[in-house]
Amino acid sequence: MTQPVRAARGTQLTARSWATEAPLRMLHNNLDPEVAERPEDLVVYGGTGKAARDWPSFHAITRELTTLGEDETLLVQSGRPVGVLRTHEWAPRVLIANSNLVPDWATWPEFRRLEAAGLTMYGQMTAGSWIYIGTQGILQGTYETFAAVADKRFGGTLAGTLTVTAGLGGMGGAQPLAVTMNDGVALVIECDPQRAHRRVEHRYLDEVAPDLDEAIRRVEAAKKERRPLSVGVVGNAAQVLPELLRRGVEVDIVTDQTSAHDPLAYLPLGVDLDDWHDYAAKKPDEFTDRSRESMAEHVNAMLGFLDGGAEVFDYGNSLRGEAKAGGCERAFDFPGFVPAYIRPLFCEGKGPFRWAALSGDPADIAATDKAILELFPDNEPLKRWIRMAGERVAFQGLPARICWLGYGERHLAGLRFNEMVASGELSAPVVIGRDHLDCGSVASPYRETEAMADGSDAIADWPLLNALVNTASGATWVSLHHGGGVGIGRSMHAGQVTVADGTALSGQKIERVLTNDPGMGVLRHVDAGYERADKVAAERGVRIPMKAE
Ligand code: NAD
Repeated sequence: MTQPVRAARGTQLTARSWATEAPLRMLHNNLDPEVAERPEDLVVYGGTGKAARDWPSFHAITRELTTLGEDETLLVQSGRPVGVLRTHEWAPRVLIANSNLVPDWATWPEFRRLEAAGLTMYGQMTAGSWIYIGTQGILQGTYETFAAVADKRFGGTLAGTLTVTAGLGGMGGAQPLAVTMNDGVALVIECDPQRAHRRVEHRYLDEVAPDLDEAIRRVEAAKKERRPLSVGVVGNAAQVLPELLRRGVEVDIVTDQTSAHDPLAYLPLGVDLDDWHDYAAKKPDEFTDRSRESMAEHVNAMLGFLDGGAEVFDYGNSLRGEAKAGGCERAFDFPGFVPAYIRPLFCEGKGPFRWAALSGDPADIAATDKAILELFPDNEPLKRWIRMAGERVAFQGLPARICWLGYGERHLAGLRFNEMVASGELSAPVVIGRDHLDCGSVASPYRETEAMADGSDAIADWPLLNALVNTASGATWVSLHHGGGVGIGRSMHAGQVTVADGTALSGQKIERVLTNDPGMGVLRHVDAGYERADKVAAERGVRIPMKAE
């Protein structure tokens, strides 16, 4: 155990340069109690997604980043600093590889064996790559997804509709606010009352109902009045969802964001909240079987709503795969959210672009928000998001912002931010990064690459190339992970973060990284045969050798 961690603020360096101060502050920010779900265990979000392997590793990383030179690179192997090598000023200051296993060994039991032996950790996506910014990070993606659902089925708005989902954790907690931002009503099932109340404190959830009857009464009233409202109810999704189906509650949209990717992080029916972690640790096999059986019941209820005409989708947590393992044959009857709603955006190199103000000053984010509105005056959904985010998003840890930008847009924003640091419009440098859930940085057949047009779902060369490209382009830190989002054995993904410190060198690196990184998304989708990506590549000048005359 250690003292609560909080990133340094202001313009005073604690490391030797901003290129090392930035990863240092972002590592510490990931573990800020305001940001992390279980900071005492180094767990940031997503089940057991950690920022460092153990406290000695955390302290060693901190020490090394404090002294690291501008021609040195720190190597981090699954959360543990293993070496400092001499490189050069364009090289990343930190290279991170998390949770990677040789494919035949890539199973949860083997991973857990190695984890228990102290040899690896689960890095999730932005936990182990130090660019988690709290629930806001997922909010925009969730907002985009529900907006796409509204477009597809409900005439462009969720007003007068009821969405039922579960899970109010680090990511799942974004769901109620994303639904109300689209003017809908949300009922969210969460088994841990503390989690539910935390979301109310952070203004992501409007209220927690005392029981299911009252929750149903409140959401039905709001739906009738077409009044946006989000209500949490404490219970087990595998019990409450079938109950809602049995009672004939009229639900329009059903999804889920419990930590289903890890059967030990999903509470099975009949297990008390207080016994959960002890039981899972002592009897992981038995717990996994029970958890999968419960997920099968959970998904059976989702299928009941599907059969009744509701819009039903898997929200990227492997719930269908686990439910199938638990005996639910029809688990894959409903789609994942990427093929259903997000892939057209990926074809444009669009994805979760985010930045954090190292100053700690919310005024810096307000200034960047204004800059985004000025840079993209014709993008109405983007403008709507930035305005709503400014009004409704409470910062956790260092102030940060996210918005989805595409190829040809991200580098413009990055360069503008760098100019603002140089001119003093921002009081300190910013870091610019993204989720690994992006257009060209992930292979994940149950999520980002589900149902690719050419069947290339499981081809994992793309995230490897992405990490190499960002390393070659000047990113400040680059990470390559396995198993994020959907669990061990099911995904490979890469991340990058680049600091804008106001120098000309930083501008050159930003220009390359923020062009090439989304460029990977365009060329990945051209390669898979998407016409939209072909068009974007042709219009915006992405060179594709196999398309050359
Ligand atoms: P988390 O562990 O912080 O939260 C999960 C929540 O589910 C917890 O609050 C837990 O109490 C609750 N829960 C577990 N079992 C339950 C049950 N049976 N009934 C009701 N509640 C239950 O995880 P998170 O960060 O919120 O992520 C949730 C899932 O979404 C993960 O599987 C993650 O990998 C996935 N994910 C999806 C996306 C996306 O874009 N769609 C992005 C990142 C992560």
